[in-house]
Amino acid sequence: MAAYVAGLNEKPFRAKQLMQWIHQRGVADINDMSDLAKSFRATLLDKAEVLSLPVMKDEHATDGTRKWLLDVGAGNAVESVFIPEDDRGTLCISSQAGCAVNCRFCSTGRQGFSRNLTSGEIIGQLWFAEHLLRSDPEAIRRIEKYPTPGWEHTGRVISNVVMMGMGEPLLNYDNVVSALRLMLDDRAYGLSRRRVTVSTSGVVPMIDRLAQDCPVALAVSLHAPNDALRDQLVPLNQKYPLHELLAACERYLPFAPRDFLTFEYCMLDGVNDSDIQAKELVRLLRNIKCKINLIPFNPFPESGLKRSSDQRIHAFFGILLDAGMVATVRKTRGDDIAAACGQLAGDVVDRTKVRERALHKAEIELTELESDEDTDEELNARSNEQPIEWLKKLN
Ligand code: SF4
Repeated sequence: MAAYVAGLNEKPFRAKQLMQWIHQRGVADINDMSDLAKSFRATLLDKAEVLSLPVMKDEHATDGTRKWLLDVGAGNAVESVFIPEDDRGTLCISSQAGCAVNCRFCSTGRQGFSRNLTSGEIIGQLWFAEHLLRSDPEAIRRIEKYPTPGWEHTGRVISNVVMMGMGEPLLNYDNVVSALRLMLDDRAYGLSRRRVTVSTSGVVPMIDRLAQDCPVALAVSLHAPNDALRDQLVPLNQKYPLHELLAACERYLPFAPRDFLTFEYCMLDGVNDSDIQAKELVRLLRNIKCKINLIPFNPFPESGLKRSSDQRIHAFFGILLDAGMVATVRKTRGDDIAAACGQLAGDVVDRTKVRERALHKAEIELTELESDEDTDEELNARSNEQPIEWLKKLN
């Protein structure tokens, strides 16, 4: 914003004013930005627009969860989900239109991949939801009933952001980090690092970069206690196997704002939910300061997978607790509007043929991946290229 304002020959403090009007007050009409000089407003009206993504669908679940389908053009749409709880309001946002990682249990992955979202399209999801919800009587009632320190004075409705929507955030690194910085910036949303979470399927080099560039809370989509199974469930594991992923997690820990990492584990009936696998998971994670989040699988057509029974989930959970691990079972939210974890599919024009490939394969059978070491230059170049190109090279 400072660079933009400088390009208009305006003083630097105008950048701060604009940030506050747009992100803190949620004002989109430049005419309403009353403390800007009239001449500056006229320039902005000529050159700029404050836009959010067009809303294609706005759905309300019976438990208060709300899901928006947002148009990102060229036939693509992404989803954002607001999850109200007693002591917080969490917004789950998307980072890509579709996803190239193609996890076996994820509806987004089955849709294929179209493109990375820009930083504006990422932060725009927060901008839109925060300011829309400020006029929602139910959201306001929650603020009054459950005031959160440092939150009630701002009238903020969204207290937490999780990058767990559509896409692999660390395969859209630069745009995601720009958006994260706005979430944390006091001139924009001022969220604490502890309340902003990036969820990754395990892009090891980018986990190291995130630790340096913008260390927010990190959640790792694990879903399997060994490489053989994880290769099938999360194909990226074939490039970054568990020992590399966990080493990156340990390197991240000193930078993590909450002093621990979260491992997500989707409970799939007969696939990863046995007692033996629970014990294997304990051995795998016992030396890492972490919380294990067990997620009952949310079935969707084409997955061919089933949710573990409640009894099995609790037996698995019990083994983790008995071994002294910190674990939780995630309450399923918004499943009547397909807003739960792994159900976000949006509407994606697949430019990668991932969907086609998936439909023609009974199982995920990725060929052996190249094992050559990457140079720093290659990694830097890859962080900015289209993820599917990267994955193609891996195949
Ligand atoms: S779980 Fe995440 S990384 Fe895997 S396919 Fe779905 S969106 Fe992509």
